[in-house]
Amino acid sequence: LIRRQIDATLIALSPHLDDVVLSAAATVLRWPGRRLLVSVFSGDPAEPPSGVAAAFHSACNLGHDAMLRRRLEDFAACEVLRCEPLHLEFREALYRTAANGESEIGEEGELFVASAARQDDAVRMVAETLRRILDEHPFSTVLAPLGHGCHRDHIIVRQAIEHLCYPIFAYYDDQPYEWWGRPRGPRPPDGYVHKMRKLHADGWETKIRALGCYASQMRMLWGQDWKQGFEIDHRQAGGIREEGLWVRV
Ligand SMILES: [Zn+2]
Repeated sequence: LIRRQIDATLIALSPHLDDVVLSAAATVLRWPGRRLLVSVFSGDPAEPPSGVAAAFHSACNLGHDAMLRRRLEDFAACEVLRCEPLHLEFREALYRTAANGESEIGEEGELFVASAARQDDAVRMVAETLRRILDEHPFSTVLAPLGHGCHRDHIIVRQAIEHLCYPIFAYYDDQPYEWWGRPRGPRPPDGYVHKMRKLHADGWETKIRALGCYASQMRMLWGQDWKQGFEIDHRQAGGIREEGLWVRV
């Protein structure tokens, strides 16, 4: 039993390729055992991409190979954080089409519509895949997004892991949505308390270096001088190199 505890794997669930690093790098960096960073919505878009997907690509300075390049960014970030990447092939909301071939998302704002977030089929499919991953990594510790901002992909990941009734070690505050005052995510279940996890100077520097690997996403979120924008948003939200986490007590 002791050996299993030492070897326990952290499974950090990231809806998109950059979410865990933006929101919960401290937890990953402190984890003494194996670290698996599972990015759920890492699949390629349909060809040709929808109008809203094409607009997103141009905001990220990416072309038709956007997801390939973003997966490469994640490989680099995982090397910085010393964790193993696992890219699931689900398409993110911007890329999904309904059965009639129409895009799920007509314009960006629809990504954050909480009432549309309950998508049972997507939750069930993601849950099935997560169950297989958990079976392959017994005694794992799971870190999940809370769903701040109500991005529908974040909500799907949370609902999928909760659907499995697997104990969740902690939920992280999704950034930058929480800093930006976007709608609060659904409350954590009873028995979780909010804590701030501080990153010491070298941890913070490692986080910034890992974020820099996601060049396309940092540019899309904060522009060319993303480091400055990131630091300003972090400070204005009252952060002093800290990350918010809901931890099971
Ligand atoms: Zn995300």
